[in-house]
Amino acid sequence: MNKLVYLDYAAATPLDPKVFKAMEPYFADKFYNPSAIYLAARDVRQSLEQARAEVAGCLGSRPVEIIFTAGATEANNLAIQGVMRAFPGGEVLVSAIEHDSVLAPAVLYDGKLIPVDKNGLVAVAALEKLITDNTVLFSIGLLNNEIGTIQPLREFAVLRDKIVKDRLARGIDMPLYLHTDAAQAGNFLDLHVSRLGVDLISINGGKLYGPKQSGVLYIKAGTKLEPLIVGGGQERGMRSGTENVAASIGFATALKLAQVSKDASAKRITELRDLFVAELSSKVPGAILNKSSKSWAPHILSVSFPGQDNERLMMELDEAGIICAVGSACSASSEKPSHVLSAIGLDDKLARSTLRFSLGRHTTRSDIEKTIAALSRLISG
Ligand code: PLP
Repeated sequence: MNKLVYLDYAAATPLDPKVFKAMEPYFADKFYNPSAIYLAARDVRQSLEQARAEVAGCLGSRPVEIIFTAGATEANNLAIQGVMRAFPGGEVLVSAIEHDSVLAPAVLYDGKLIPVDKNGLVAVAALEKLITDNTVLFSIGLLNNEIGTIQPLREFAVLRDKIVKDRLARGIDMPLYLHTDAAQAGNFLDLHVSRLGVDLISINGGKLYGPKQSGVLYIKAGTKLEPLIVGGGQERGMRSGTENVAASIGFATALKLAQVSKDASAKRITELRDLFVAELSSKVPGAILNKSSKSWAPHILSVSFPGQDNERLMMELDEAGIICAVGSACSASSEKPSHVLSAIGLDDKLARSTLRFSLGRHTTRSDIEKTIAALSRLISG
């Protein structure tokens, strides 16, 4: 990496050279269509299925439960629209701080929002209140991309099991599925599907030092959903189109590397995050950390600078060689202040004074020190 201080890992991560190396043969030498039946193509098919098995190994699932997608947006759409198409008349709930790629498909089916507290956490009681006998799906992201809240998915899974049991006892056969968007979680958290208790999980390679437009949707066996892309029937009919073998292999390699090093990464990045917090409070008076006190990701810092315009401050930092984000950089720029910040109680003015700093594999102590020094200079100057 060059001398820029890059603190926008929640938007994009650089490709790991090991991932690139694993992908390379599939662009040229091994270009064959994996659905063809001659030997050279069967070899490519085998590599694709090996990648699927590796992803399944990381998630503790069966390979047939893994559908390769072009990133988390597609996986979230397949999960939500797919289930809602399979259950006309069913209802969907999503947390108020979901990424737009969860919110927008839920809106198509009149989805209701599950409120969060000031730390961005969903309370089980608040969720339970919204679930009716027609609710077929609820979606709560594992790790929020703007404020870093980590949700207690296990508790939601216990509630789901209780409700399903109660429905069965009353002769109601509407299922209740739990989906999570885990696009931000794979570098630090366990993604084992039965430990999390999820029926559907979306993961994104572009946040894992893998290729952009790569990812998966895990679909627990028995979960009913309709495909959104129909055609040649690839990916068990769930996602037609000639498979992107290089991206799938890159995704599997990136996920494996991320999951093997997740505990060490979490420890190192948490230390840097805590250094950021300590330096911020001593050198940038007035800055407010929008943090989830109980359950907080190692890599995401949302900071409000009252009285400052976040776009101007971001651009001044950019000129100083420091890259960060105004709210979530994963959605196209919008005039509206962040729905995540307003859901945790920030007014529009404070939301427009908020920046996101996200740390990653190449972040150093010196990056943090430079950033705090620049903030201190720009804000007091
Ligand atoms: N979900 C979350 C939580 C994200 O942070 C992102 C960011 O980009 C996405 C979904 C969408 O991923 P993509 O744009 O790669 O499809």
